[in-house]
Amino acid sequence: MHVLDILTPFAQTARIGAARVGAQLKDVTEVLGPPWACGSSAGADGLPYLYAYGCLEFATCHAHCQAIESIVVQTDWTTMEWPSQEPGRSETFAGYPTYREVLRALSEAGCPWESYEPLTDADQSAIRVPASGAIFVFNTEDVAEPVLCHASVAEHRPHTCG
Ligand SMILES: [Zn+2]
Repeated sequence: MHVLDILTPFAQTARIGAARVGAQLKDVTEVLGPPWACGSSAGADGLPYLYAYGCLEFATCHAHCQAIESIVVQTDWTTMEWPSQEPGRSETFAGYPTYREVLRALSEAGCPWESYEPLTDADQSAIRVPASGAIFVFNTEDVAEPVLCHASVAEHRPHTCG
């Protein structure tokens, strides 16, 4: 497994396996098993709203349901830990894909992208994939070549529940 094997389909589809914005957390836990970590803050339903399987993180609704509102792939790790095909088991691979590697992979997959100014400043640059709304943020400060910090998708319109 290579990190770009995850990031390229994520850029194209906004999904990581069963995980997509709007899905219920249980749709993911049925496939991946219980989350490996969760946040200490709770939503109105008394349940945490941040969950992680290694470098794969989800935020769920802060109100009364566990709909997934955002998915983040944290790539700023030398070794990334990731859920394997076998529930409860992890696999590892190298993180920190470079700007050039990510853009080459998107280009080879025929996946258009555009620069994303709201998250571009002196220390970082960002791109957005219009097809999925996925946003990739690169660290540009004190590095020979920009490296990917994280890739994410998020709900655009808050849903109503409860
Ligand atoms: Zn909700």
